[in-house]
Amino acid sequence: MRYAVISDVHANLEALNAVIKKIREEHIDRLWFLGDIVGYGPDPLKCIETLEKEADVLIAGNHDQAAIGLVDIAYFNPYARAAIEWTHDILGDKERAFLKQLPIKREMDGVLLVHSTPIEPGQWHYLMSVKDAFKNFRYFKENVCFIGHSHQPEIMELSPDNRITVYREHSQIREGHRYIINAGSVGQPRDGNPDSAYVLIDKNSIKINRCPYDIVSTQKKMRLAGLPAGLIDRLSRGI
Ligand code: ZN
Repeated sequence: MRYAVISDVHANLEALNAVIKKIREEHIDRLWFLGDIVGYGPDPLKCIETLEKEADVLIAGNHDQAAIGLVDIAYFNPYARAAIEWTHDILGDKERAFLKQLPIKREMDGVLLVHSTPIEPGQWHYLMSVKDAFKNFRYFKENVCFIGHSHQPEIMELSPDNRITVYREHSQIREGHRYIINAGSVGQPRDGNPDSAYVLIDKNSIKINRCPYDIVSTQKKMRLAGLPAGLIDRLSRGI
């Protein structure tokens, strides 16, 4: 079985379509999505429609919940808040109902999927360090957990003697080891590389891949929609 795992699309349709095209070329059996379909970007409706059709499993992110009033927007910075308010006004009843029924975590095929962290997934904590990873490994029983939320793709491996090794691009899944894998972001990468990130799992190999997309088209749509300039500029820099 070959899996692709993606996260944090953030209403960026050009990025989503580019990644889905790549994934299809790789003959993937299952596509799992880790949350934040909407927020920041100009195409929430089409991104919901596309992911509903293409993804086999979907969970909710904090932006998905904020856009339908399930998370307090006071928690977000002013740029993110402006985009969430814009998204809220665009969503119709159908999209709202779809976002509302998304779970915040899924356990399947011996793997845990959460948007934020295994610790209190509905509190939207960030997992940003090896120290955070150590804490979180104690909060799930599966050998592999996929996360998103920070938009920083990485593979954290816990060895049987309790050491963590971080891989940026590729790792094997080793017997007796456990993994937290951050799939990064399709629609708003923040690791200095503006190309979309996605993860491929094939047998025992984990790979973080990157895929360029038409950033200029997304930025043009954002400008037309009146979304904040800071959100438009950051896409070209991957920050
Ligand atoms: Zn996000």
